Amino acid sequence: MERTQFVIEAAEVESMAKESGLTVLQLLPSVVKTAQKLARPPISKYHVGAVGLCSDGRIFFGVNLEFPGLPLHHSVHAEQFLITNISINGDTHLNYIAVSAAPCGHCRQFLQEIRSASDIQILITSTENEDNQEDIFRPVSYFLPHRFGPDDLLDKDVPLLLEPHHNGLIFKDNLSNPSSNPNNRCNGVADYKEDELKFAALEAANKSHAPYSGCPSGVALMDSKGKIYRGSYVESAAYNPSLGPVQAAMVAYVASGGGDGYEKIVAGVLVEKEGAVVRQEGTAQLLLQSVSPKCDFRVFHCNSISCNCKKPCS
Ligand SMILES: [Zn+2]
Repeated sequence: MERTQFVIEAAEVESMAKESGLTVLQLLPSVVKTAQKLARPPISKYHVGAVGLCSDGRIFFGVNLEFPGLPLHHSVHAEQFLITNISINGDTHLNYIAVSAAPCGHCRQFLQEIRSASDIQILITSTENEDNQEDIFRPVSYFLPHRFGPDDLLDKDVPLLLEPHHNGLIFKDNLSNPSSNPNNRCNGVADYKEDELKFAALEAANKSHAPYSGCPSGVALMDSKGKIYRGSYVESAAYNPSLGPVQAAMVAYVASGGGDGYEKIVAGVLVEKEGAVVRQEGTAQLLLQSVSPKCDFRVFHCNSISCNCKKPCS
């Protein structure tokens, strides 16, 4: 099956299962190979596909992304892509994952940001008997016993990943003010819808999951046709598996059919708190310069009027 979309709607999932004579749960591992073909790993050439079945009946795709010219920690793992893709498409419950290779430790940890993560069932297609796949889903707790996660650091009422977030961020200055960093301004070639991009980045920052640092951020990217892609920063309790806002926006770009490369991205805006202890600006600029050299990148700072996190806000 060839496919370029990263979501299969519930009705199509049902009809695909029916046509194949499978249950929906049996169907899930059968689409992993299709997802793998959509991966973009120019460094490793190792294609990973992760597909998730949510409680609303939709199947979401995740693939690995690698960025030549940058350190490996900029990469996006397929499971991170999957969770980000689900998050972009609305809050829902992820129940099952089928993945082409064993989830790495980084991804087992990243999954902990989802409430009741231990109960999510995972099937690894590369190691299992394809004739009997519905029997060999195993819970995340099997893959990561003795977990360290949000429970160790947060109050129980703090929203977790895939739950609604509103970080209460507003722009520090009024809309007509120029970029807070004049170095990031373009040289007169910007004819894109700056305000729209700026508010899209603010919206992404307000959905950011950053309860550990209290430093939410968001990125909005625009392609040459004016289409906007939003990405929200996601923190992990273990810090290092966190996913940057540019990477999240790249997930949105790829998942929305943004094209083969990233060179069509012509503008990017980052919104984060001024003076934040965790700042994305330098890394975001580095990544965008490397993969989308034509991208006009700007940064806008905001204040928090209220937020869900338990850290002091600036
Ligand atoms: Zn991984």
